[in-house]
Amino acid sequence: MMELRWDLTLEEWVVIASHRSERTFFPPADYCPLCPSKKEKPKTEIPSSNYEIVIFENKFPSFCKSVSNQPLVTGKKEILYRRAPAKGICEVICYTPRHNLTLTDLPTNRIENLILVWQDRYRELGKYSFIKYVFIFENKGKEVGVTLSHPHGQIYGYPFIPPKIKKELEASFDYFKKKRKCLFCEIGKREKKEKKRVISQNKDFLAFVPFYAHFPYEVHIFPKKHLTSFHSFKKNDTRNLAEIMKKVLTKYDRLFGFSFPYIMNIHQAPTDGREYPYYHFHIEFYPFYRAENRLKYLAGSEEGAGVFIGDLLPEDQASQLRKLRHNTIR
Ligand SMILES: [Zn+2]
Ligand SMILES: [Zn+2]
Ligand SMILES: [Zn+2]
Repeated sequence: MMELRWDLTLEEWVVIASHRSERTFFPPADYCPLCPSKKEKPKTEIPSSNYEIVIFENKFPSFCKSVSNQPLVTGKKEILYRRAPAKGICEVICYTPRHNLTLTDLPTNRIENLILVWQDRYRELGKYSFIKYVFIFENKGKEVGVTLSHPHGQIYGYPFIPPKIKKELEASFDYFKKKRKCLFCEIGKREKKEKKRVISQNKDFLAFVPFYAHFPYEVHIFPKKHLTSFHSFKKNDTRNLAEIMKKVLTKYDRLFGFSFPYIMNIHQAPTDGREYPYYHFHIEFYPFYRAENRLKYLAGSEEGAGVFIGDLLPEDQASQLRKLRHNTIR
């Protein structure tokens, strides 16, 4: 069973995908469904014996392209408990055939290829009229609840604009209305000027711990130019994004000396056919360690009230990350 239910108290959709509770949970160490298929071994999700980057539809999706088995949309009279078909697309994207690597270990040109694939999927999924938002993300590490350790990310084609993006769109629209300027461009300029939260930069991108960081060691990557989505990326932008991502990821692994878990989110313009000239492409990383052996748990204040409480100054976190070398570890 798969459907959307409207939470009128928060004015947001919740996806109910009850079949997902049967999904693969920590398979045995010698079987990985994301490794290339090898002779005499059980077949994996990937039939070929090697690959560079692979994309396929998630076997246990939260959304479904065909909606035949799904409940009908609620009638107009139903105001309190609305439901709708969970029509969307969920894809898995494997970064490398090598099981024990992470995104951090990939050379910059391979990260660049991955970004090109992301751009392609953003374009292709965005073409479907029922997909209003293409969300590219990676959950990394068992601390974040990842069941498959093979390096991979995901792409969700949502049939609506997710609440967090909606909030950002509204805030940047309001700012634009008042100041006739892009909110994100202004934040980027301020960070560049103040320097103390910047951890790395190149010609086209700035990586920094935001003034208003919600998570410990949270890092955002902004293009210095006003780019609203992958649509407006040029070759150099892709190259320089790969370069700065490699630096941020390497610094993360060096921070506590182990492969650093995080949630990586790509925020960009929706694909609902409207123009969002006031919005600005960016990547957000949410880590879960606040010290070498101390995890940050989201608890009552964060989950119940939406108020994040941190115990580290963003400026100090930035200075720690900035000082770390960013050449490759392995
Ligand atoms: Zn694997
Ligand atoms: Zn901008
Ligand atoms: Zn954002």
